Amino acid sequence: MSSFSPAQSRDIKHQMHPYTNDVAHKTIGPRIIERGEGIYVYDDQGNKFLEAMAGLWSVAVGFGEPRLVEAATRQLQKLPYYHTFTHKSHSPSIELAEKLVDYTQGRMSRVFFTNSGSEANDTVVKMVWYYNNALGRTQKKKIISRKRGYHGVTVASASMTGLVGNHRDFDLPLPQMKHTSCPHFYREGQPGESEVDFASRMEAELEAMIIQEGPETVAAFIGEPVMGAGGVIVPPDTYWGKIQAVCRKYDLLIIADEVITGFGRLGKRFGSDVYGIEPDIMVLSKQITSSYQPLAAVMLNDDVASVISEHSGRLGSFGHGYTASGHPVATAVAIENLNIIQERKLVENAATTGAIMQAALRELAGHPLVGEVRGLGLIAAVELVADKESRRPFDPLGKAGAAVYGRAHENGLIVRAIQDTIAFCPPLIITPEQVSDMVARFAKTLDEVQKSLQV
Ligand code: PMP
Repeated sequence: MSSFSPAQSRDIKHQMHPYTNDVAHKTIGPRIIERGEGIYVYDDQGNKFLEAMAGLWSVAVGFGEPRLVEAATRQLQKLPYYHTFTHKSHSPSIELAEKLVDYTQGRMSRVFFTNSGSEANDTVVKMVWYYNNALGRTQKKKIISRKRGYHGVTVASASMTGLVGNHRDFDLPLPQMKHTSCPHFYREGQPGESEVDFASRMEAELEAMIIQEGPETVAAFIGEPVMGAGGVIVPPDTYWGKIQAVCRKYDLLIIADEVITGFGRLGKRFGSDVYGIEPDIMVLSKQITSSYQPLAAVMLNDDVASVISEHSGRLGSFGHGYTASGHPVATAVAIENLNIIQERKLVENAATTGAIMQAALRELAGHPLVGEVRGLGLIAAVELVADKESRRPFDPLGKAGAAVYGRAHENGLIVRAIQDTIAFCPPLIITPEQVSDMVARFAKTLDEVQKSLQV
């Protein structure tokens, strides 16, 4: 332990980290990332890493983009802070709200700003409840999400998240939140079942759940078009159409959590565009500012927005909001970030370079450790298995994932291990040459880990 640098020792002593085993942290210590440039980051020991996760699925335009630094600086000099409560506003929040509505091509009409995806989803829950109270449907409050879905960690959003680690010992989920099955055909499909039949089974399960709960008590369905943190789950092509039809049949609002999939990740502006989802509410964050500033947006269609609007008039106020809702520096950075995404055609790059990444990763499908390669656009995952034929997972679960995660650093690569699934979500600026380099580093890592696991 004496080998820790002074900065590492101070970190261990004073900082409690998110999503970290705090006991292990005291012996492993932190890797201190000092700077970034393009798709690369550098630690304080001078090591360079290809950041294949864009931080946390978020740095669309890459690290060190001077235009975002300038946008932030300009706004800091002009008006570093002002709020948007009680009939106050400022130009960056006005301009961004308008830009976002335009970006949805008119499907959404109003925007409510928060600081994080979690807060945005807590806001959504409150809006859904408020909406149904406004309509006098005081029983219609339950929200259905999926197992392995990820919607954040605040009390309501963590309740919608379908991962054990976000519930266990946190006294969650809230009783209003229900979880239906994860549309992962590779793991959840039954022997002999086609992908189309599997999607129909998911549809039937959702409908049965709504009927069992009582449709008059179920308010909404929330899902990520492609699941991210739960393991990059790409649903069957027919899945969303079926889910949407059930939601419409029982008058459930459809909430698209596009925190990862928004702004081009899947090769179209939104994941909803890929699957023909027509959400009533959309949640955006991460790539909205390339995470240079904390910001998220809840987008509402006309119906939801007008019901909430009129109810706030009756009650005297919409009693919800954050000190930094629509923060001028964050919204100014988002405007410039969206300009860059459009000017540099990064959505198109996610489609074309994304196809190259998908093909290159699929070439690893024959590797003895690889069970499934999946993904779309510039997001992908490689699921590692102990036995390819039977799809048997590693015991203990996560053993191979942790080995790959650690070894990848030695090969100058940062990936994410979700148990034994290795996720890739590089910045949208990545080039085909950089994709080849990324996949080569990963293939080398896989070979090395395979050897080490056999010993
Ligand atoms: N929704 C989705 C789909 C996410 O991926 C995340 C974060 N990974 C969140 C919500 C929560 O966002 P935050 O971490 O900013 O609270």
